[in-house]
Amino acid sequence: MEFWSSDRRFGLHLPPEELQKILQECRSSADHETGGILVGYYTEAHDSARVTVVTTAPADSQKGRTWLLRGTRGLTSVLKELWLKKREYYLGEWHFHPYAAPTPSGTDIGQMHEIATSSPYACPEPTMLIIGGDPCGNWNARAFVFPKAEMIELQEERESTDS
Ligand SMILES: [Zn+2]
Repeated sequence: MEFWSSDRRFGLHLPPEELQKILQECRSSADHETGGILVGYYTEAHDSARVTVVTTAPADSQKGRTWLLRGTRGLTSVLKELWLKKREYYLGEWHFHPYAAPTPSGTDIGQMHEIATSSPYACPEPTMLIIGGDPCGNWNARAFVFPKAEMIELQEERESTDS
């Protein structure tokens, strides 16, 4: 999937196999929220986050029907390994709103602003991907980026297959 802001200052690219991993995790989470982190790199022009790996929910995550406290167990070692092997790093978060719209809640927005200013994350413009609906059928996705105190929506664009 490919998303861009209308001014094309911010983009997000998610490879199909990582999207499948997310949908699989949503299916196995049934009517509870789930989520994980997006890892990858920025393009040389720094305009697009290129996701290479998504994680599923860490074992210490707590899940409800309309809330998620994403845990942290194991993430440090995943990030360390990807940094050492591939120079890839934390880009943001994804999570699932089961059988509901992928609209960010006040809590979602607050958490992203917190991450944007948190030094351990070292990610001043984190991206958030929300999957909503039925992961076995009619699902949809929205993506947002959080530069400074802003929230900017990225619109999905069809990837051209002939270029
Ligand atoms: Zn949410």
